[in-house]
Amino acid sequence: MNQVLEFDEALAVVLREATALRHSDAVERHPLLECLGRVLAEPVVADRDQPGFDRSTRDGFAVRAADASAGRAMRVQGLVRAGEQWEGLLEAGAAIEIMTGAPLPKGADAVLMVEHVERGDGSIRLAEGRGICAGENIVPKGSEAQAGDVLLPVGTELGAAEIALAAACGWAEPKVFARPKVAIVATGDELVEIGQAPAAHQIRNSNSYGIAALVTQAGGWPGRLQVARDRREELWERVAQGRMWDLLVFSGGVSMGKYDLVDEVLAESGAEFFFTGVKMQPGKPVVFGRLPERDGVRECYFFGLPGNPVSTQVTFQCFVGPMVRALAGAAVEGPRFVQATLGEDVAGKAGLTRLLPARLTGHRVRPEVKLVGWQGSGDLAANARANCYAVLPAEGRNLGKGEMISVLLQ
Ligand code: AMP
Ligand code: MG
Repeated sequence: MNQVLEFDEALAVVLREATALRHSDAVERHPLLECLGRVLAEPVVADRDQPGFDRSTRDGFAVRAADASAGRAMRVQGLVRAGEQWEGLLEAGAAIEIMTGAPLPKGADAVLMVEHVERGDGSIRLAEGRGICAGENIVPKGSEAQAGDVLLPVGTELGAAEIALAAACGWAEPKVFARPKVAIVATGDELVEIGQAPAAHQIRNSNSYGIAALVTQAGGWPGRLQVARDRREELWERVAQGRMWDLLVFSGGVSMGKYDLVDEVLAESGAEFFFTGVKMQPGKPVVFGRLPERDGVRECYFFGLPGNPVSTQVTFQCFVGPMVRALAGAAVEGPRFVQATLGEDVAGKAGLTRLLPARLTGHRVRPEVKLVGWQGSGDLAANARANCYAVLPAEGRNLGKGEMISVLLQ
C-alpha cells in the first residue's frame, strides 16, 4: 500500500473515478433562487421561441430597407413601444418609430438607429453616408432558441447565467439532485473546538470548518463528525459512522508520524487505495480510496487530507471538489486552471508540483500572479491573503517574471 502518483496522474485518477461513480438519483424541487450552486435533475427546455417575436435591438425606426436606402423622406406612421404589438402594416415609403425590445411591425424588415436618421416635420430620412440592409438591428423570432430546445441539460450546475436562463424559460421551481452528504472527520489529540480557548500546546479544529465551507461551495452537504483522537478505536468508530455517508473526508493522521493511523485503520476496514500520496507541495500525504460495500451499506469513497491547513485546502480543491461535484450529479470536470503572467522571478525546485498561495491581480489585459509570502503549509493567514495557487512545475526550472504559468483559483 504505497502508491505515490505524479500530480497530473492523481488528477486523472480522480476524474476516472468521478466519471465511473453512480450518484444518487434522489431529487427535490426548490424555488429557483435557492437552486444557485445546485445541479439540474431535469433539463431546462425553451417553452417558446426565443425571442418570441422579431425583436428590435435599437431605439429607432422600423422601415423597409429598400425604401430607407433610397434616401427619401419617410412619413412617420406611428410608434410602437416594448410590450406593444403594432396592429396593421407598415405603409410603403413610411417608417414606424420603434423602441428597443418592441416587436417589428409587419411589412418592416429593418430598424434604423435613431442616431442614423435626420428628422423632418413628421418624417425622417437616413442620414448622409449611412446605409441599411434588410435584417439590420433585428433579432429574428427563434434565432436564439426554438421552442422545445434543451437549453440546460441534466447535470448542469446552476450559476447566475443558468439561473437567468431558467427564469426566462419559466422554470420557477427546477428539479435538482439532492446534495451529497459529506462526512468530515478531523483527527488529532491537539484539537479543541473553535469556541474553546486552546491551551498552549493545543490548536483549534479549523480544518473541519474550512472543509465544510469547501464542501458547501462544491454543492455538497457537510456534516462535521466528532473529532477522532489519534487512537485506533476512535478512528474505527468514525470509519463505521462515516461510511454511511456519500463521501468521507478525514483531516490529519495521514503522514509518516507514529500516530498517523488513518491509512492503517482504513486498510483494516477493507479499503481499496487509488493513491496514498501525490508528488505535490503542499499536500504530499493525501490519500484517496474506496471502502467496499458491506452489510447492505453501499461502497463509499474517502479522502485522507493532510492536517496542515493549507495542504488541506489545496488538496480539497484539486481532488475532493471534483468528486463532490460528481456525487452531486454534475457533469464531470476537473479543477479549473487558468493561465496568468508571473509577476516576479521564482526559483525552481525539482521533484514536486508546487501549488503555492498567490495573488492574481484583476488587470483586464494582463492578469499577473505573484506569490504570497508564507511560512509553509500551516500558514492559514497567508492562505487567506491569497486568492489562488500558482502552479510551479515539478521539473524545477527557474521561472522568470513575464512567463505564463498555470493558476488554480481559490
Ligand atoms: P497531521 O497531518 O495530523 O500530521 O497534522 C499536520 C499539522 O496540521 C499539525 O501541525 C496539526 O496540528 C495540524 N492539524 C491537524 N488537524 C488539524 C485541524 N483539524 N485543524 C487545524 N490544524 C490541524
Ligand atoms: Mg495529526
